[in-house]
Amino acid sequence: MQYDPTDPQKKAFEENAAEFRAFDDRIRSVQDTARARLADSGWDPGDDTQGTLRCLSCPCPGFEFGGFQGRCKRSSCKHAFINHDLPR
Ligand SMILES: [Zn+2]
Ligand SMILES: [Zn+2]
Repeated sequence: MQYDPTDPQKKAFEENAAEFRAFDDRIRSVQDTARARLADSGWDPGDDTQGTLRCLSCPCPGFEFGGFQGRCKRSSCKHAFINHDLPR
C-alpha cells in the first residue's frame, strides 16, 4: 500500500515535524538550564562522568537502559531519558 497524502495531509505532517523540532530545541534549552542550575548549586559530578548520561533530576550517575517505558532502570532514579544529560 502506497500512501499518497493529500495537500492538507502533507501540510499537517510538515507542521508536526516543525513542532517536534521546536520541542527538541526546547529540551536542549531545558537541559542547558538544568546543567547551569546544578553548577550554581556547587554540584560537581567529577571528570569521570564524561560520556555518561548522568541524571539532571537526581544524583543518578548514568542512565541505565531497560526501565519502564524507556525510563532509567536505576531504582533511585527512574527518570525519563530526557532528564539525563544528553550529548549535544
Ligand atoms: Zn538515571
Ligand atoms: Zn534521575
